[in-house]
Amino acid sequence: MTVRVRIAPSPTGNLHIGTARTAVFNWLFAHHHGGKFILRIEDTDLERSRPEYTDNILAGLRWLGLNWDEGPFFQSQRLDLYKTAVQKLLDQGLAYRCYTTPEELEALREAQKAKGEAPRYDNRHRNLTPEQEAAFKAEGRSFVIRFKIDDDREIVWNDLVRDKMVWRGSDLGGDMVIARASEDGIGQPLYNFVVVVDDIDMQITHVIRGEDHIANTAKQILLYEALGAEAPVFAHSPLILNMDGRKLSKRDGVTSISDFQKMGFTAEALVNYMTLLGWSPPDSTQEIFTLEAAAKEFSFERVNKAGAKFDWAKLDWLNSQYIHNMPVDKLTDLLIPYWQEAGYNVDGRERPWLEQLVALIGPSMTRLVEAVDMSKMFFSDTVELSEEGSKQLQQEGSSAVLSGILAALENQTQLTETAAQDIIKQVVKAQNVKKGLVMRSLRAALTGDVHGPDLIQSWLLLNYVGLDKPRLQQAMSS
Ligand code: GLU
Repeated sequence: MTVRVRIAPSPTGNLHIGTARTAVFNWLFAHHHGGKFILRIEDTDLERSRPEYTDNILAGLRWLGLNWDEGPFFQSQRLDLYKTAVQKLLDQGLAYRCYTTPEELEALREAQKAKGEAPRYDNRHRNLTPEQEAAFKAEGRSFVIRFKIDDDREIVWNDLVRDKMVWRGSDLGGDMVIARASEDGIGQPLYNFVVVVDDIDMQITHVIRGEDHIANTAKQILLYEALGAEAPVFAHSPLILNMDGRKLSKRDGVTSISDFQKMGFTAEALVNYMTLLGWSPPDSTQEIFTLEAAAKEFSFERVNKAGAKFDWAKLDWLNSQYIHNMPVDKLTDLLIPYWQEAGYNVDGRERPWLEQLVALIGPSMTRLVEAVDMSKMFFSDTVELSEEGSKQLQQEGSSAVLSGILAALENQTQLTETAAQDIIKQVVKAQNVKKGLVMRSLRAALTGDVHGPDLIQSWLLLNYVGLDKPRLQQAMSS
């Protein structure tokens, strides 16, 4: 048997971290078994689905490296298939038209509530006579199509994460709506139904999705049976929780993959982190790996039942590891869009200069977006003086030191590392001052602050684009 799994996002919002994590588990499982990973866009909710969300979802999956083998298939283009399946259930007497009005349903719910019962449909139109149906139609009532669910049915499956699962038909809220009214009398098919029709048609062998779908699974198993198909194997992965143990939501900052991207996480770190959200590799000390490496080890035996806490510190740590180990040219490519977004004159700088800047700031970065602040002074014509920087420039001897450096610079065309070191040594000797004073004053003049990246490298970068002398001059007069 070839393993066939799918990710089936609804384009009613941007690619959500939960959906992306489900995609990760599907991808890992497919690749572990040499199977296929299929992408299906569940866009039957025409009011809430938007093409820009589909674009965001596809871009997010591609960015994360979760390439798919088949699709994307769009449910909105497959309506005929669903309608044929609805008709089949109607013909077999497994589904029926229900004419109960919204007001009647509301009254039913109220009555159930008053008795302290859970709300459920009471199957009142299950066995209408043709005359009763005709009468409802004549009244102008519209209908939904309901699938019969026997209360005393026991539904059992062996979940790959949660082991044996047992549900009763009576837990499912009465006969379920599988299609809403539509002109052609067959109805607009709904989520639980079309998923099953598609999963049968696409020969899905394993349905891997979040545990919020468990109740749907119970219903869907009955639909497989009714449609004469074998149900796939199910695996319900744990939810992603915030650090307080509640479901991760918009309130926790970000929830969509494009937000994580904007915040400066690398695709590799984020996808690596998502594999660890609920799964642990056999060697649990191993935390940094590619998707391919994780796929070799992946199994649902090592997926937790308990919710997976989203740990920002861990994600940051992983991200920093990826940034620090990334080749400079690749990191440069990743940072250019952030600089451009910030309005920096990237085009006015040569590539080797950009790469040298990246080599300088990369080792202290955690998120890519930090490059904006960290490199501001290298792109800017002016220096922002911090309080400490300003104090440093007021120190006795500071101005003389800077003047000495400027004088020495006059003899240099292009500064080299050795020449820069020599200038500092010269000034220390000539003015008989401590090296610390020279270094701190130079830093304050060039960068406006007393802390920052390697001073000599920073100086070389500024010198290359002619920003060092004006800064020294300005600092002396400040
Ligand atoms: N469209 C569903 C969702 O986005 C997919 C459910 C499933 O995987 O069956 O949650």
